[in-house]
Amino acid sequence: MGQFNNSLEGQVCLVTGAGRGIGAAVARAVAARGARVAVNYNSSYNEARTLITELQQHGYTALAFQGDISNEQEVSRLFAEIRTTIGEVDLLVNNAGITLRSLVQDTSTAEWDRLMNINLRGAFLCCKEVLPYMIRKRYGRIVNIASSQGIDGASFEAVYAASKGGLIAFTKSLGREAAPSGITVNAIAPGPVATDMIYSHLDEEDMKTLLGELPEGRLAAPEEVASACVFLLSRDAAYINAQVLCVDGGWKAR
Ligand code: NAP
Repeated sequence: MGQFNNSLEGQVCLVTGAGRGIGAAVARAVAARGARVAVNYNSSYNEARTLITELQQHGYTALAFQGDISNEQEVSRLFAEIRTTIGEVDLLVNNAGITLRSLVQDTSTAEWDRLMNINLRGAFLCCKEVLPYMIRKRYGRIVNIASSQGIDGASFEAVYAASKGGLIAFTKSLGREAAPSGITVNAIAPGPVATDMIYSHLDEEDMKTLLGELPEGRLAAPEEVASACVFLLSRDAAYINAQVLCVDGGWKAR
């Protein structure tokens, strides 16, 4: 019998969109397991700086890297900077994402393109960057932060749900494609999580209704998504591949 091993020591983890929200919680959790952390941010410079300071004060290795993950040139630059500063990425968490609350007939093609480019194309671009190294090393972990809406759909959020459904299909496919190289690719499908994303989209009335639907009567904390992510990134999760782990408190019992 092998030893349990959920340490991430000696590995580099890139978390996209990690200046705040779920990404910041994942960055803290992977740093605490010993990984060197690349904190990607796009516009949240101050939040990313504050997070890096906090992690470094704990003695962890963490650096912030600006980059819009929907832009191919910026993603190439981002990976080049990470490579030359803290090393090749062994663990990738595609977390960056945006949402949109809009009826389909009111949604512009520009809004569709922007959302798809960040939520889906961004994950594709980051995977393309890490895969050659992971394949050479014959080891790697990729976790894509999807959503329960990518499984169930959601009225007013069809475009968002479609992007997350696409991310889930991408996960299941790439997981199979990359498995022979010792790489696992999994998705997490959170239910409602207490971050800006949810607070900026729900008014008091909607929040009350939502809380009434949740078995726990509360939103998930970002740390509760992060702990699932850390497990999927660990060596212990070697035989869990191409799966979707729902972190929704049983909201959508499947
Ligand atoms: P959030 O607080 O709104 O944070 C979104 C993050 O995405 C920010 O760090 C933001 O970076 C980053 N981002 C957006 N566009 C980017 C770009 N072009 N390039 C790089 N980073 C970009 O939301 P959250 O709740 O933490 O969401 C994290 C992930 O969880 C998303 O994929 C979201 O869809 C998913 N999720 C959230 C919930 C929820 O209820 N909160 C539920 C299910 C799934 P900057 O601030 O630096 O621009």
